Amino acid sequence: MTTIGQNYQQILTSLPSGVALTAVSKFHPVAHLQAAYDAGCRVFGESRVQELVGKHEVLPHDIQWHFIGHLQPNKVKYIAPFVSLIHAVDTPKLLAEIHRRAEANKRLIPCLLQVHIAREETKFGFTPEELLEYLDQGSWRKYSSAQISGLMCMASNTDDMGQVRAEFQRVKSLFDTIKTTFFANDEAFRLRSYGMSHDWHEAVAAGSNIVRIGTSIFGERT
Ligand SMILES: *Cc1c(COP(=O)(O)O)cnc(C)c1O
Repeated sequence: MTTIGQNYQQILTSLPSGVALTAVSKFHPVAHLQAAYDAGCRVFGESRVQELVGKHEVLPHDIQWHFIGHLQPNKVKYIAPFVSLIHAVDTPKLLAEIHRRAEANKRLIPCLLQVHIAREETKFGFTPEELLEYLDQGSWRKYSSAQISGLMCMASNTDDMGQVRAEFQRVKSLFDTIKTTFFANDEAFRLRSYGMSHDWHEAVAAGSNIVRIGTSIFGERT
């Protein structure tokens, strides 16, 4: 087996049952994705629309493609026909556009709402307060073809693992609040997407059930 295949297998076997793995293949050539595919990987995460579309065209069609990066509403149309999960919905406008393009394709597109929790790392995502306010206000309910399936976040990029754990815990309790308040009877709302190569242990300990791992599988991005 290839090194990439071995890395994939190793991560897969160290994840507790019930935790899904998205193999983050952004910036890696198709041959690297094929190596992971040959080792059994069927779920890949990409963060650029053009790159995702190109890889989708040439790789096997039983792959589930996740979009994990910042997504501009005007680019949703390119991935709407096939994307299987959009991890980082960060504005009401983006959710509305995903709904519109999902309907046009007669699809339901699962999406996660991105929570801005880290100290400075990214400007994207709803703060916990904004997210509660937005859900409470209720306009999202009419965008039913964009299926809200959970929350996503990135922790601060720091060596202070106590800080990282605290951030993941905050998102876990926000998830629980949102689940009981808005999605108690909605089985689709169940995903907690947090944890990358350097912090997935902390993420899983804090209730992540889908981790997004790139470097530990494919090596450094060049
Ligand atoms: C690149 C990226 C990852 C994977 O990061 P690694 O450190 O390579 O595991 C996860 N999530 C998002 C949103 C990313 O952009």
